[in-house]
Amino acid sequence: MHRHNIAVIGTGYVGLTAGACLASLGHRVVCADLDPEKVAELNRGRVRILEDGLPELVREGLDTGRLRFVVGAAGAVRGARTVFVCVGTPTGADGHADLTAVDAVVEEIRPLLEPDSVLVTKSTVPVGTAARVTAALGRPDVGVVSNPEFLREGTSVRDFLRPDRVVIGSDSPWAAAQVAELYAGVDAPVLITDAASAELVKYAANCFLAVKLSYINTIAELCEQVGADIGRVTAAIGRDHRIGGAFLMPGPGWGGSCLPKDTRAMLSTADAVGVDFPLVRAAIDTNTHQRARIAAKIARLCGSGGAAPLDGVRIGLLGLTFKAGTDDLRDSPALALAAELARRGADITAHDPAVPTTRTAGLPDGITVVDDPHQAAKGASALVLGTEWPQYRTLDWTRIAAALHQPVVVDTRNHLDPDALSAAGLAWHGTGTGPVEPALTHA
Ligand code: NAD
Repeated sequence: MHRHNIAVIGTGYVGLTAGACLASLGHRVVCADLDPEKVAELNRGRVRILEDGLPELVREGLDTGRLRFVVGAAGAVRGARTVFVCVGTPTGADGHADLTAVDAVVEEIRPLLEPDSVLVTKSTVPVGTAARVTAALGRPDVGVVSNPEFLREGTSVRDFLRPDRVVIGSDSPWAAAQVAELYAGVDAPVLITDAASAELVKYAANCFLAVKLSYINTIAELCEQVGADIGRVTAAIGRDHRIGGAFLMPGPGWGGSCLPKDTRAMLSTADAVGVDFPLVRAAIDTNTHQRARIAAKIARLCGSGGAAPLDGVRIGLLGLTFKAGTDDLRDSPALALAAELARRGADITAHDPAVPTTRTAGLPDGITVVDDPHQAAKGASALVLGTEWPQYRTLDWTRIAAALHQPVVVDTRNHLDPDALSAAGLAWHGTGTGPVEPALTHA
């Protein structure tokens, strides 16, 4: 395998994972970020984000000398044959992907790129970005490639090294071939496409997942109305290989750093070219409805029913991150739920294994974070599970029952064991299924 000199711009979830994984495949990688403190920490082997296996891979890269970190993109691109752009592309005005960070990087490195090198956008960028970057570069010798990333937070290293597929899109076959070579050590089909198709793949995939989740959340709502059980329904439909069992779990609505922004960006792209996409719009609306529906259900279970039904009511919340295994709070449905309950007057005491009590960034007002899940239950009218951390399955439910003001647990993700809760005298309220009442105790 050829060992390449690579630059990675941006050391967030995607850039740091890509950099460390490419170094582990034998390439020489220089990663750049704007944050000097983060760069200094990374050069000492300290990884701020929670990602299984990533700290080990970063330390291995530093030890072998194949991985290092610098401040600023300019310092990383010298000598690099391939430059990966992994900066953020948040939602901008009208739902468009905001390409400010991508544009800034292109502008900064434009004159510094090595002759005949390749610039790769790994950030999620709308169709047409490769053409836009090519024009902004004004460097006919530099190839431009779209190589969207499909990793999931929490399992980013595994997903990068063992993906379902690698997608490489370019209108320059030599540039696509050069990027494909970098993945020689990755056991996955490499799909070479034109640039526009590769850019669309990422949005098409994420929107499909969002539609699937919204679909199942509506089936869950139907289950509650007709007395069916969502777990039994999904177990059966998931066995249909045309449907598949993944992404069939009901919950408090989907969120995270990708699905909300990518669905909106897809609508914006479709709108710009005169294509109506009601399916994606409905998925977003269904998600908004799901979040509100779950909040209303909690309010019904522990509120007074008045105008501000949760005024002064304490609610315990288990989990704040958008899913288990990550410390990422961006567009977390658990946080949205907390904010909505707080808006209705509730006092929220929350626990999350990845959120220290000192953390305030990304948290709405009115939430107290504690470091013990049992403490979150103290005096609460309901304990709500917002994130499916595995450790919540084995809490001391008897202790929690004693701490709660009302024996009510709302499990928005059907993650807990209803029988264990019932045995401890708690009523379990899942999503898309009937409640499981406390077991009768015999004197
Ligand atoms: P992030 O916010 O965690 O990281 C972005 C990093 O880029 C930050 O550390 C920031 O300081 C740095 N940066 C910004 N401008 C820079 C510049 N001019 N020079 C150097 N560094 C700069 O973002 P992320 O979650 O890693 O996502 C990055 C991109 O990948 C987005 O487009 C996202 O949609 C896409 N993506 C994310 C995921 C995910 O699960 N997080 C998965 C697939 C794709």
